[in-house]
Amino acid sequence: MTNQNVVVPDAKSGINMAITVAVSGSSLFSSAAQKPPAVPGTYITISKKKLLQNLDINTGARINAWVDSMRASSPTHIKSSSPHLSDDHHNSWTMHHPSALDMFEQITNASKGKQIVMFLDYDGTLSPIVDDPDRAFMSDSMRATVRKVARYFPTAIVSGRCRDKVYSFVRLAELYYAGSHGMDIKGPSKGSKYKKGAEAVLFQPASEYLPMIDEVYKALLEVTKDTPGAKVENNKFCLSVHFRCVDEKKWSELAKQVGSVLEMYPSLRLTQGRKVLEIRPTIKWDKGKALEFLLESLGYANCTDVFPVYIGDDRTDEDAFKVLRERGQGFGILVSKTPKDTNASYSLQEPSEVMAFLRRLVDWKKLSLRRQFRIRRRLEEMKMSL
Ligand SMILES: [Mg+2]
Repeated sequence: MTNQNVVVPDAKSGINMAITVAVSGSSLFSSAAQKPPAVPGTYITISKKKLLQNLDINTGARINAWVDSMRASSPTHIKSSSPHLSDDHHNSWTMHHPSALDMFEQITNASKGKQIVMFLDYDGTLSPIVDDPDRAFMSDSMRATVRKVARYFPTAIVSGRCRDKVYSFVRLAELYYAGSHGMDIKGPSKGSKYKKGAEAVLFQPASEYLPMIDEVYKALLEVTKDTPGAKVENNKFCLSVHFRCVDEKKWSELAKQVGSVLEMYPSLRLTQGRKVLEIRPTIKWDKGKALEFLLESLGYANCTDVFPVYIGDDRTDEDAFKVLRERGQGFGILVSKTPKDTNASYSLQEPSEVMAFLRRLVDWKKLSLRRQFRIRRRLEEMKMSL
């Protein structure tokens, strides 16, 4: 269990109060066994049948856990399987993770005198979750909003996707991009206005895994080819196996197929997201580390006057929420319509609310800059008249 401080509205008194909420640590699943790492570049040819036979009982239990967890984190499943999910439970969750729109003033007040830095996940945050991951387009209005955000605050997109792929969706050269769960970080191609002279490619901590990832990609394509709807995505430094278009009855079988390949590569680990299993190197690098790295490269490593805001919808975003909570700086905002165990402080229901929040943030910043400008001008006028 971990603790986090959030500001919640007190419905009775109408005032806000700070409380400490106990939150269970969200456990991500790791398939990394304690074996020597496989040597990159050695591809073992093995039949699908044999691979499946290799699965031991523990692996079977782990696979069931992945599938159960994936079912539990699927919003449609929660709705259909838990029609009586009590209003009390929902209200209690909303009380502990209030809407970032309702708490807008409190959030901006907390950021006063500090530099806001925006971190945005892509899928399910800026774009809706769709069946075909290749068609997860963001709307023009969302793009225009993110462009305005980047005009006022350093802004980074942090995604599990390959960096080039996420860039092809967002198409804004002024942003920082952290693809492959932060394992592929690049600064603005126009050059950063916040950090002069920043290098184009900032960081790729898992480059030596590239040949292995490529091998596993091919092996996954092979073992999953007979499962209708299964889609394997190569995100360069990590891989995703999408379950979105697979009949739920086939989820266990597909997870087993993925597990069978992973057994051969103990230096890769598996994490579970929204209708997706993700495979990545066991190196200690995640979206939280990417957030810290970006703050450092922007020159805010040991600053107290920085206010990072991270918005995301996925289990993998929890690493970033946790970092913010531990640093005691800024806030995490979870995008979710349903209660979830999270380290985020606030919530937004869907991408349309994310856009509304970002627009308010831009309007607030514009207004406060105008106010500052007026005050400065008045002071100068007063000086002149003395
Ligand atoms: Mg997401």
